[in-house]
Amino acid sequence: MPEGHTIHRAAQDHGALIAGHRVSAVSPQGRFADGAALIDGALCLGTEALGKHLLYHFDVQQTLHLHLGLGGYFVTGAQPASAPRDVTRLRIETGRALIDIIGPNTCELIPNDALDGFRHRYGPDLLAADPDPDRAIAAIRKSRAPIARLLMDQKVISGIGNIYRAEILWLRGLDPMTPGKNLSETQLRALWDDMRALLQIGVATGAIITNSETPSPKREVRERTNIFGKDICPRCDGQIVKSQLSGRTLYHCPRCQT
Ligand SMILES: [Zn+2]
Repeated sequence: MPEGHTIHRAAQDHGALIAGHRVSAVSPQGRFADGAALIDGALCLGTEALGKHLLYHFDVQQTLHLHLGLGGYFVTGAQPASAPRDVTRLRIETGRALIDIIGPNTCELIPNDALDGFRHRYGPDLLAADPDPDRAIAAIRKSRAPIARLLMDQKVISGIGNIYRAEILWLRGLDPMTPGKNLSETQLRALWDDMRALLQIGVATGAIITNSETPSPKREVRERTNIFGKDICPRCDGQIVKSQLSGRTLYHCPRCQT
């Protein structure tokens, strides 16, 4: 699943392609035909990422909301374009560029008067220009749930996926099963700052890079992380433990994360 940095980068890239342009919109697959008709011919006012959600604003009082989920992806390109694949949920085109959206978990229009309600369903975004860590910190400190679960809960905090979760807890030496309410405000503020810094590297490079040797973004993911996908802890040479939490594989080092 794409983590928050991927979606922020997509928002920037897609904004550069279509913001300020009138678009044509079609649903080659047919499943979003009614929605596509509503934004067909509209002016794109801009794009925005909210955690793992991508929003496209149009001058028709409707906002396109995408969530890729585990299998969805984008294809962008220049004109002239080849015919879209049958599975394409939505193709958005200008005279110069196109964006194909394939296999998303969610592809819907949100009326603009419902946008505030939509935003409040999710925790503060780590990559927001004007971030609001207090709301996330308060939610974590009220919870008995393990910190590893809370970090993945987009209602608590927006932007962290499975790889960043494992890496950030290891970098801070935190046991993933620590209840949120046992963490101090100072610890959580430091955690927030680290997560934001790592995600910003992700947006800038287009890759998850969490080890301090900052290898090339083109290297395999395991060469860019410290413990994710690995068997041996680089700090203590102990065995990395894999377990299941919130439906995803959690990696941690029981010696370093106490
Ligand atoms: Zn270790």
